[in-house]
Amino acid sequence: MRKNYLLTPGPTPLPPQVCEALAKPIIHHRTPQFQAILKEAAEGLKYVFQTKSEVFILSSSGTGAMEAAVANLLTSGDSAIIIEGGKFGERWTELCQAYGIKPEVIKVVWGRVFNIEELKDKLKASQAKVVFATLCETSTGVDFDIKAIAHVVKNSAAVLAVDAISGLGVVDLKTDEWGVDIVVSGSQKGLMLPPGLGFISVSEKAWKLINQSRTPRYYFDLRLAKKAWEQTDTPFTTSVSLVVALNAALKMIKDDGLENVFKRCSKLAQGIRSAAKALGLKLFADEGCSSRAITAVNVPVGVDGEKLVKTMRDVHGITIAGGQAELKGKAFRIASMGYLNEFDIILALSCLEKVLHQMGYKFELGSGLKAAQEVFLT
Ligand SMILES: *Cc1c(COP(=O)(O)O)cnc(C)c1O
Repeated sequence: MRKNYLLTPGPTPLPPQVCEALAKPIIHHRTPQFQAILKEAAEGLKYVFQTKSEVFILSSSGTGAMEAAVANLLTSGDSAIIIEGGKFGERWTELCQAYGIKPEVIKVVWGRVFNIEELKDKLKASQAKVVFATLCETSTGVDFDIKAIAHVVKNSAAVLAVDAISGLGVVDLKTDEWGVDIVVSGSQKGLMLPPGLGFISVSEKAWKLINQSRTPRYYFDLRLAKKAWEQTDTPFTTSVSLVVALNAALKMIKDDGLENVFKRCSKLAQGIRSAAKALGLKLFADEGCSSRAITAVNVPVGVDGEKLVKTMRDVHGITIAGGQAELKGKAFRIASMGYLNEFDIILALSCLEKVLHQMGYKFELGSGLKAAQEVFLT
């Protein structure tokens, strides 16, 4: 008998409440019935995004919302600063390049703490209209200090756009309080939904840039989205079923309370880190910036990292993520976001121990589990 468990940084497991909502008969999207649903979603999203600004729902994966940010804020020939510390930071750079925007990249060594002084220096010497950053860099298991970044950008002419695709509803992001202008996210990570929705919040400061941009845009034109949103509507057919399910997920987050969700995810990550250390494994990210959404662990010498992940998945039904790009085969990643609890982590760790043991790695069986249990008891 086979049972499947998902501990990847998207898609994440779906709660039964979400599955139930997804199974409801479809309704028409331009009806008072659906308008009420959209209104509820709009309010719920503001709560999770911690903003009073509108949060627009796009029918795309998270990257669509990233593209919407780039296309709406900037025009070919403009420059933008990108804080780039992994695969997803690189995505901001690639998007800028695709739109003819000059990327001024601040390279952060993967897994290392970002030095905020570098941003201060770069901003002083730059005409950049936008600073692009990442809340949780999923590829390396690093959380960036968005509060500190926002503090620096707020006092400049530039707008701050943050990729919170894996971080939203997992790691605290005080959009309005910290002064984050654009926050983008997606449905399949902390929000516990299938992939297919992108989200974007837009501050007043950002609207000024959006209205100036001369980039050709149509489907992702945020001006159209804003106009439709004023009538509680979307410019095009929205992903009706996913929006219905979104409300079920937002209700769960609201019932838990955002603060409690952040605490839970943080504790799960702490349990994973503690277990890894007890097993004699090294964490990829520095202690000072380790993510609360995803933990990247170095594969020990002598173990085939790709085989480890594959065996856990194909033999035991437990899917964790391997390493991306230069970390391929060298790291594995375990998520601590969305609909996951302590016992899901314990389960994944027990499978990890089993497979590591079978692959000849030497450690005391149960030592990782014990370390995680001890964290979860606190
Ligand atoms: C998953 C992820 C993305 C990509 O989102 P898609 O929904 O696959 O387009 C971008 N940035 C980060 C930080 C992510 O974790």
